[in-house]
Formats: sequence, structure tokens, C-alpha cells
Amino acid sequence: MAIELDGRPLARALRRRHRDELEDIQNRLGHPLTLAVVRAGEDKASTSYFRQIRNLCQRVDMEFQEHTLPATDREQFIGRICRLNADPRVAGIMLGWPLPEDWGAEFIASLLDPRKDVDGLHPLNAGRLFLGGEYLETGTFVPNTPAAVIHLLRHYEIMLSGKHTVLIGRSNVVGRPLAALLIAHDATVTVCHSRTAELASHTRQADILVAAMGKANFVTPDMVKPGAVVVDVGINVTPDGLAGDVQYDAVSKIASAITPVPGGVGPVTNAMLIENTIRAARIQSTLA
Ligand code: NAP
Repeated sequence: MAIELDGRPLARALRRRHRDELEDIQNRLGHPLTLAVVRAGEDKASTSYFRQIRNLCQRVDMEFQEHTLPATDREQFIGRICRLNADPRVAGIMLGWPLPEDWGAEFIASLLDPRKDVDGLHPLNAGRLFLGGEYLETGTFVPNTPAAVIHLLRHYEIMLSGKHTVLIGRSNVVGRPLAALLIAHDATVTVCHSRTAELASHTRQADILVAAMGKANFVTPDMVKPGAVVVDVGINVTPDGLAGDVQYDAVSKIASAITPVPGGVGPVTNAMLIENTIRAARIQSTLA
């Protein structure tokens, strides 16, 4: 039976550390730090996600601003990003997804001040992540979910070096940046996606399998090598409640370790957002 890679104790420990760091940094700056989210329209999933982030900000004593703007006014949206870029009290800015299809999501992300881009989506931050090396040490923002996956695996002392890691998913927020991070940790990486032929023939080779496709219960035991570590990034709303991308009960019988949904990657992802916002404040103010 697999060990459960529970993200909640790690998230709690991070929260305690973040509260202390925030108290110190806010005292030294002389004003509260703010995380701002900007979204176009009232998407249901993002409403619930931002509620979680607002609660988390309250618990660590960070200000939270939500800017919900009409999905019909791209200019106003761009104007708001520029205003938040220029506001010294706003340490971090995050975009709410989805944006209207014809707005050009990549262009909008490129308008964020890269020093406030706490989701790591600005091309400068994404480029630094892909170059790795010193750039990772000195100043890039890694997207929160990939950062959480690495944090969780390291917390449970799962070795990455030399391990064959297979990812299902190549999105800009999860699969691609996670591939870059895993390479930086000396893992051997295979990235699968919707056009991958014979998906199971790849996943069965994984020492570490990461499912990030957004398809409830897609990964079945026959897709998993016995003894593999399985990380389930998926969050899917089903008639039976929240489900991951992996059939948890069946796969946990053959895996050596597995993350639950909810309670695995999710809580650590939220903590990474706070961590990035604190780092952003330090970078902008040159506080140590
Ligand atoms: P996304 O942008 O929709 O990307 C999904 C990826 O999965 C794409 O690369 C897609 O391939 C691939 N895929 C879809 N169906 C597939 C199939 N049948 N076989 C192989 N690959 C397939 O989603 P995302 O934003 O990366 O999010 C993925 C999941 O993670 C969602 O459930 C989301 O809710 C969840 N999520 C969780 C957290 C967390 O903190 N735990 C954070 C962010 C997202 P193509 O590129 O070919 O289309």
C-alpha cells in the first residue's frame, strides 16, 4: 500500500514561516504587503480559488485585492495591470484564468512587471526557468504548482536525480515549467500530451508519474509501474465531488507513494503563491 504524500502538514509549516517573515518584512517596509488578482468576468472556478487565496492571505496577515473587471473591456483590463505594476504597495500580481479567448493571454501576461509576476508567467521568468542554473538561484518566479510538486517530493525525501519522470500535460502553468524544474534537479523527463501515441507505454516506465491533464480518474493501475511515485495534480469537479486525474484507491495498491486529491499538491501550491509574493517584495525593495 502506498504512502500518502499529504501536503497539509507541509502547507501548515510553510504558513507559520510565512507569517513570521511577513511580520518582519512589513515592519521594515512600514506598510502591509498586498497580493492583487485581476480577472475578467466571474468564472465560477476562479471565484472559489480566489476565496481560498483570500482566506490564506488573512491567515498569514497579507493584504489581498481582487479586481474583477468586465470581460468586454480589454483596455480597462490592461490599464488596471499598469496601475498595479506602478503601485509600490502591491508586491505581487496574479491573473485570473480564463481570459477571453481573443485577448491574447500570452500578451496580457507579458504586460505584468516581471518582478511582481508571482505566477511565473511573464516570458522573462519563464525564460530564466528554462535556462536554469544561476537564474534559478538568483531571481526568477517559478509557477506555483510545479514549485509545489518539487517541494512536496523533497519534503518526503523522494530522490529526483536520475529518476525517470513522466509528465502527462504540457501546459504553461504546470507541465512545461515542471519539466524544466525536474531537469534542473537531474531527473530524466518525458512529457506526454493529448497527441502522445501509446500513452500507457510511456507512463509505465515512470519512476515518478505526474498527472496534470484535468481528466477525472484517467490514470488507472495498468498505466503505473509497481512501486512508482504518483503525483496527482488534477482537480476535477465531478458529481461525486472533487477528483484527481488518478484512480486513487486502485493506484495506491501498487504505487509506493501517492498524493491525495484534495490535500496533496493543492495546499502546497497555495503556500508557494505566498512564498513568491514575499520574494517579490524582497526583490522590489532590495530587503535581504
Ligand atoms: P490544461 O491547460 O488544460 O492542460 C492539460 C494538459 O493535459 C494539456 O497539455 C493536454 O494536452 C494534456 N491532456 C489532456 N488530455 C489528455 C489525454 N487524454 N492524454 C494525454 N494528455 C492529455 O490544464 P492545466 O492548467 O495544466 O491543469 C491540469 C490539471 O491540474 C487541471 O485539473 C487543473 O485543475 C489542475 N491544477 C491543479 C493545481 C493544483 O494546485 N493542484 C494547479 C493548477 C492546475 P495538449 O497540450 O495536447 O492539449
